[in-house]
Amino acid sequence: MATVGVIGAGIAGLSAAWTLRKRGIDVRVLEASDRLGGKIRTEHADGLLIDAGPDSFLSSKPPGLALVSDLGLTDQVISTLPDGGGTFILHNGKLEALPEGMTLLVPADPRAIMSTPLLSPIGKVRLLGDYVIPRSRNDEDESVSSFMRRRVGREAFEHLAEPLLSGIFAGDADQLSILATYPRLRATEREHGGLIRGAMAMRKQMTGTAPTRPYTPFVSLQGGLGQIIDGLADAIGRERIAMQTPVCAIRTAHRGYVVTTDAGEEQFDALILAIPAPAAATLLAEIDPELSSLTGTIPYISSATISLAFNAAEVAGQQRGRGFVIPRREGRTLTAVTWTSNKFGGRVPEGQALLRGFVGRAGDEAPALLPDDELIPIIRRELADILGITASPTTVRIFRWPKAMPQYTVGHLDRLRSMEHRLATLPGLRLAGAAYRGVGIPDCIADATAQATTIADWLAPNATEAQSAERPTISA
Ligand code: FAD
Repeated sequence: MATVGVIGAGIAGLSAAWTLRKRGIDVRVLEASDRLGGKIRTEHADGLLIDAGPDSFLSSKPPGLALVSDLGLTDQVISTLPDGGGTFILHNGKLEALPEGMTLLVPADPRAIMSTPLLSPIGKVRLLGDYVIPRSRNDEDESVSSFMRRRVGREAFEHLAEPLLSGIFAGDADQLSILATYPRLRATEREHGGLIRGAMAMRKQMTGTAPTRPYTPFVSLQGGLGQIIDGLADAIGRERIAMQTPVCAIRTAHRGYVVTTDAGEEQFDALILAIPAPAAATLLAEIDPELSSLTGTIPYISSATISLAFNAAEVAGQQRGRGFVIPRREGRTLTAVTWTSNKFGGRVPEGQALLRGFVGRAGDEAPALLPDDELIPIIRRELADILGITASPTTVRIFRWPKAMPQYTVGHLDRLRSMEHRLATLPGLRLAGAAYRGVGIPDCIADATAQATTIADWLAPNATEAQSAERPTISA
């Protein structure tokens, strides 16, 4: 029977392995570290549930909830708390509420634009200009900043859109590709003539005939996102997953690929590399230098999350809503803060409040790698300045993510097309994961599922999931 090697046990690698198992194909997952999940990591400390990397995913992108359902975990899905209290933006040192009805990075209601303190009168008029500025007929890629400045002006971009956008990629909007990161914004311009018109149309649709959605836009699981990883590992079969097994080389063989690990060589009929692009570039160097160099040009940014728990009584009145984002121009080390205990239930014991700060973004990555004794005082000083919090935290947990966030820079889609040309010459080899077709968890699941399906079709063109004799069942 054919065996597929999957390198990397993050959400992409495990989703790919699960897709193959459902097709009755044998898999072996090789993971460098001593834990599964990659960027997804749920920890328990002092009665707290702390997600070290991602803490939620978009419910509107089907692959996330579909996987959860496939794993029998739907009853574990939780929506955000109903009385979270909104999101804020730091503006000239003060927290201001996001304008009402923010959709597609702009307020859908012109009255909300007129009343926000985040923009000067000139900035408001320029933002409203989006309503009349003609759509671009150009199909070329452009940077996120060029697109947004063109549509809504410099002020609305810097004060409103950039801090919301940069939370996702921690990136430099002058470098990020609009077509690869936010294709929906360009499509909205095309379809509706501008973002405000598009936002208005969307709001109308949502308040009109759309059925009530069962979940809020962001969801998690009762036991944190690590529950998805555990569910996947159980479904695949833990005996098929080798941890502390870094792959250090791959080469083509007469049939398939040979993988080298510390334990020796293993041969596979097909391979899926579900590892960050720089690691993939290293492994590809021998079999296809051009593919390796294309993969190696995808840049990465370092970031870190800092979770601080407090006695709730000591921070009462200082918790503004669900959290806030911090524009670059504010000159802070923190880039965003979430009150985790106001976002999801079941994260803290009674009487505790849990906050999570983010540091590290394009052009300012150094704070993400600072040692604890330098980083903690900076964070506490900024929380004191912004929220007035002087209480000592009862627990502090820092998770550093060096070079963890891939950056889809202008031309990313062209790069992917060139990579596909090279991959076409390497049958049975696919690349999956956050580096390529979306960084969000549902995107990584979708990409991994698609790559694994390509491999399964190639190995057994006539077998569908339903026909596979060996389709595994989930016991949990
Ligand atoms: P990874 O998770 O990086 O997994 C790759 C795996 O490959 C790792 O386990 C690694 O050890 C292994 N590996 C590497 N090299 C080798 C080798 N040579 N041999 C064997 N194994 C190897 N997304 C959301 O949807 N919602 C969020 O709230 C969110 N927040 C985030 C917050 C942070 C701080 C970060 C860093 C990311 C966040 N993301 C979020 C993005 C999302 O978490 C990631 O894009 C996604 O988890 C990446 O999954 P992956 O499987 O592609 O890669």
